[in-house]
Amino acid sequence: MVSIQGRNPHAGIPFTDSDDAIAAVLDEVNVPALLCSLVHMTGDVSWVRECTLPQMASAMDYQCGFSPDEQADIRRRALPAVVAYRDGGCIPHTLSRDVLLEMMSFLACKPLEGRIVGMLFEDMQFDGADSRAITWGDEIPADVSAASPVMVIGCGESGILAGIRLLQAGLPFTIIEKNDGPGGTWWENRYPGARVDVGSHQYCYSFEPADHWSEYYCRQPELRDYFARVVEKYDLGPRCRFGTTVTRVDWDESDAHWRVEIVGPDGATETLTARFVISAVGSLNLPRLPEIPGMDTFAGPSFHSARWPDTLDITGTRFALIGAGASGFQIAPTIADDVAQLTVYERTAQWMFPNPVYRSPVPAGDRWAQRHLPFYGRWFRFMMTYPGIAMGTAQYRIDPEFHDDTGHAVNEFNAARAQALEAWIRHGLEGRPDLVEKCLPDYPAMGKRILQDDGSWLACLRKPNVEIVRTGIARIVPEGVETVDGVTREADVICYATGFRHNEFLAPMEVHGRGGVSLREQWGDEPTAHLGITMPNFPNLFCAYGPGTNLAHSASLFFHSEFQVSFALEAIRLALASGARTIEVRKEAHDAYAARHQAEISQLVWAHPSIKHSHYKNPAGKVYTLSPWPLDQYWELTRHVDPADYSLH
Ligand code: NAP
Repeated sequence: MVSIQGRNPHAGIPFTDSDDAIAAVLDEVNVPALLCSLVHMTGDVSWVRECTLPQMASAMDYQCGFSPDEQADIRRRALPAVVAYRDGGCIPHTLSRDVLLEMMSFLACKPLEGRIVGMLFEDMQFDGADSRAITWGDEIPADVSAASPVMVIGCGESGILAGIRLLQAGLPFTIIEKNDGPGGTWWENRYPGARVDVGSHQYCYSFEPADHWSEYYCRQPELRDYFARVVEKYDLGPRCRFGTTVTRVDWDESDAHWRVEIVGPDGATETLTARFVISAVGSLNLPRLPEIPGMDTFAGPSFHSARWPDTLDITGTRFALIGAGASGFQIAPTIADDVAQLTVYERTAQWMFPNPVYRSPVPAGDRWAQRHLPFYGRWFRFMMTYPGIAMGTAQYRIDPEFHDDTGHAVNEFNAARAQALEAWIRHGLEGRPDLVEKCLPDYPAMGKRILQDDGSWLACLRKPNVEIVRTGIARIVPEGVETVDGVTREADVICYATGFRHNEFLAPMEVHGRGGVSLREQWGDEPTAHLGITMPNFPNLFCAYGPGTNLAHSASLFFHSEFQVSFALEAIRLALASGARTIEVRKEAHDAYAARHQAEISQLVWAHPSIKHSHYKNPAGKVYTLSPWPLDQYWELTRHVDPADYSLH
């Protein structure tokens, strides 16, 4: 996040490195991103026009299929161009939109057109301006702004973003955060091995250069520091109240304001008043502890993965890990060599995606390029993001006409995907048919949150001190875990990596809208919101990461947050500019959207009936958590507030 005053933040920091140093750097760069950057450096589009990528980027191969010889040739040809750029004072050429589109098409391996192009340009921000920055601040009279305080609940990824946008809007606001610092889930999850499983270069704000990531999928401390730095950069600290929990939010019709009840670090209760509320409480942070008899009888320490004790020393212990979703999957390989015995209790076998760079550092040369070569970082973000976005949801659709021998695949592509993923499992467990039998899932590939494996998980299961148990747990006893076959495995420590109460949006807050309507009662087990953002009966309240907006298919939640927070700010602007006291989604608009959402999501793999346990599903097996929309479709849906969908009073 280094920037130079006045310079396009994506244009790279000018450099004076020697020719030899540049040659060494080029040996480690990503060649497709380099080719695009060379167009910026030279103004010569032939770098991409006269070159065809063998394939699109993927975590399996960010060099897009270029052979080592082809890469070496491009690196060799690039050297004089980079040197000349340095000697010219590091001034990139301004490229036309047509050329930039040609470069996008080059990386996409096909001509790009239509809606997705608009979204990608908005994200890439070649002109260096934050394309979603709020610019209407001056339109609203100062006294109106001053009388319109906004309460943001949560200082994680979307709460920080909301703070940045509210600053730009010139509205008074406070961010209430229950933790003692920013970062939300990345503040809380400190278990060994915690790292992001969405590529770091797309798991960040679009308007902040991403030239600092040390790993392709960076670890929790780096993410936590990232959020702290952003908070500091935008000077949000004075607006934040950390260690403070919102317990109730009540709509007061008399003055059309929200009363927000908080409990501060000293335990004192206070009621704040806000005209608008933005809930940025996240959705995967309310621990779900299993209901296993005897849990309170265990003699040793036991805890949820998101509550890993800071001072716990697990060296040499017999460690019981219950749950092998995204969290357990990261914990087990990280601790296996430290503990005497690791027993992993896995209720459902997991599909995993081979990802060779999952735990790899970004090479020093590549980091240098991200920092110095013009727009190199942008193009790398594009390469990480585009393939998933382009895939949309077609590959996740249940094809009722499709039948395969297993009865689990939902379409032809899905069957092929399952085969490839199964091959990875069989390869990693070669010679261990006992493990293969335990590890092959019996539901469609991608049907639950796909996990990433660079080989560590499967290698971990093969270790002599590791056992994976697929037998159900009967009870916890003081000395360990007893399974339904009557076997007790002793343990010194139990970690419940059993996930979160994903379907219970905004819990445990009590939220009451018009006429005292309880949001929890309005939702029941079927939480819905118009575009995942607004609910009838709850005027002037907006959700980031609300119902139906988790992403299981592409990009990162930062994209969604940016769309949602912009939408919320646009709605606030509409209310303020029109002189209305409230803006509230019309019930018909909400209901029509909710029906559309259900109709769509129920046709996608995550709703497949063979999936017995999934945090995506509600108790009845229906999915209210995920977005069924391709990213560019959701971008279009949320791009503007349709006044016809809202009543302003
Ligand atoms: P999760 O994916 O819901 O996994 C929970 C695990 O606990 C599953 O193996 C589940 O088995 C098991 N489990 C739950 N209740 C159980 C019970 N009563 N008895 C036995 N086993 C039980 O939770 P998570 O791993 O914490 O991940 C949740 C989400 O958080 C992820 O999908 C992801 O979005 C996010 N996350 C992300 C990262 C990352 O980016 N690196 C890391 C961690 C979490 P079943 O499969 O049978 O339900």
